[in-house]
Amino acid sequence: MSTKQDYYEILSVSRNASNTELKAAYRKLALQYHPDRNPNDKKAEEKFKEAAEAYEVLRDPQKRSLYDQYGHAGLENTGFSGFGGFEDIFSSFGDIFEDFFGFSSGRRSRSRARPGADLRYDLGLEFMEAVFGTETEIDIEKREICPDCGGNGCEKDTEPESCRHCNGTGQVSRSQGFFTVRTTCPTCRGNGQIIPHPCPECRGAGQVMARKTVAVKIPAGVDNGSRLRLTGEGEAGVFGGPPGDLYVFLHVEPHAFFKRRDTDIICEIPISFVQAALGDKISVPTLNGDKTLKIPKGTQPGDIFYFHGEGIPSLRTTRRGDQLIQVAITTPTHLTKKQEALLKDFAKLESKKISHKIKNILKGDANKATG
Ligand SMILES: [Zn+2]
Ligand SMILES: [Zn+2]
Repeated sequence: MSTKQDYYEILSVSRNASNTELKAAYRKLALQYHPDRNPNDKKAEEKFKEAAEAYEVLRDPQKRSLYDQYGHAGLENTGFSGFGGFEDIFSSFGDIFEDFFGFSSGRRSRSRARPGADLRYDLGLEFMEAVFGTETEIDIEKREICPDCGGNGCEKDTEPESCRHCNGTGQVSRSQGFFTVRTTCPTCRGNGQIIPHPCPECRGAGQVMARKTVAVKIPAGVDNGSRLRLTGEGEAGVFGGPPGDLYVFLHVEPHAFFKRRDTDIICEIPISFVQAALGDKISVPTLNGDKTLKIPKGTQPGDIFYFHGEGIPSLRTTRRGDQLIQVAITTPTHLTKKQEALLKDFAKLESKKISHKIKNILKGDANKATG
């Protein structure tokens, strides 16, 4: 008993310290030794309890006067014997912890704080915007922290109060036969606090609906169905909880000429059978303007040509894919007399060549069959 340290020494205040000085001294120690900051630290736990006990006694004029006159012994008949554990401390000092730590770090306010909801926004993009990236702004309607009360839901110059029904724990016990059932406190709905004077702007919710413009940077190379995450741009958290995220789902318009396969661009270019047969140089649109493609002699339907590095940048490596050019060989439908005559001459030579070829093939097969 005699090893108990002096309360004034614990708080490092003079014997005639005012209540304000006591509170400030206790606040400093409570912050320093708070269990959330010193997990599993027995020494900090001891200091935290000591400080709470000292403050509990000295802030009460009656107990303080007994202690001043008789020391620790003077308190023996008051029914006060220090704190058993953290829960005791938090339930005695609930209101104090609220204004020490704000909403998020006091033990019991934890049930009050809730993270904000995530939001979804569907954004339409032109094909080229997706390829090259763009910056845009979107308007969203969401819950934001009430500007009038700063989110605590209280009218100006008032504070939340610890719920008397559950002593601020947010739960009430009820006996049922042999069992004790703990349920959410109906008065404070588990918050542990009630708001005696609600903020007129948000009616105590701490949040209001607001329209907000959010800048969105679309990186080059996004595709239809890509999803962007804007951290913290979702709805505001409730009573100090963290905000949610905003997810922007991208819907990319198809392009009339360019098709896309991952980072490659695919397009189809019509060429005449004459160009295919004789070879030619043609102009092909690319993402960066027209480019010349050399068609070799004897190009076949479905042949594919490549422009390397003319595709879409990869989101991960920024390396660009390729452009694949598929040729579609077209047959002329309106021929002049002269063109027709020339083709007929050509056909005579060609059909002899073909039949000769077929003869050879058939001859070869015949040889195989007999030999
Ligand atoms: Zn408000
Ligand atoms: Zn309650």
